[in-house]
Amino acid sequence: ILEVRGLTKTFGGLTAVKNLSFSLTAGEIFGLIGPNGSGKSTAMKSIMGIERPTAGQVLFQGENLAGLAAHKIARRGFGMVFQHSRPLNRQTVLENIMVALLPDSLLKVFADPSLTQHARQIAQRVGLGPVLDRRPPTLAFADLRRLELAKAIARDPKVVLVDEPFAGLTLAEVSVFSELIRSFRDEGRAVLLVDHNVKSVSALVDRVLAMYLGEEIVTGRADEVMRNETVRRVYLGGA
Ligand code: ATP
Ligand code: MG
Repeated sequence: ILEVRGLTKTFGGLTAVKNLSFSLTAGEIFGLIGPNGSGKSTAMKSIMGIERPTAGQVLFQGENLAGLAAHKIARRGFGMVFQHSRPLNRQTVLENIMVALLPDSLLKVFADPSLTQHARQIAQRVGLGPVLDRRPPTLAFADLRRLELAKAIARDPKVVLVDEPFAGLTLAEVSVFSELIRSFRDEGRAVLLVDHNVKSVSALVDRVLAMYLGEEIVTGRADEVMRNETVRRVYLGGA
């Protein structure tokens, strides 16, 4: 469903992502793994059009999206869970999800009862039921991350990009979030999952691409990738 070819992103003299290629299938969780600063978030933002790729193609159902504006790419059927969330702090949880549902016509959003209902369902699904009327600054960290998941899937995307969803969560929360991400896959979405550690996502991903300093080291099943010598060397101490 998605094919990334030769994706490159430079910031001045720094090449954050270098000639990255991989493809994503519907109904698959694909991991993008690498230590801090290896270019994972930059790769994701370049796919989403939040950063403009320096070179390369992002083919979605045959169309090259590279260079399109982020809102156009989102409308094609992309949702993203940001590593650092930026909710609307003066709106409630429910209103944040409603805005994510229809960002193009803000005014209609608040008038349409079916939309409220839809937003409630999404909130329930990610476990935000008890905090619908709270505002983000009063939420626990895990609930802020739940809100990110809710916003990402609000518009029923075909591709979901998830940047470090487990950072800062307890083991119990990690297992809940893992189940949610599995459920996105099982609905037939393609999931691109970014994490810094192969081990922590090995049970979740169907395939993994390990990267280092912007470049691919190896792509394969998690167990194959964990056996790779370069991966072991790069991750020594980290994994
Ligand atoms: P982390 O695990 O810390 O989230 P990452 O793999 O997501 O790391 P990126 O955030 O993509 O890594 O950063 C890759 C490199 O690009 C880093 O050296 C970073 O400093 C640099 N970089 C990222 N964004 C920018 C930017 N907007 N301007 C300049 N340099 C940037
Ligand atoms: Mg990152």
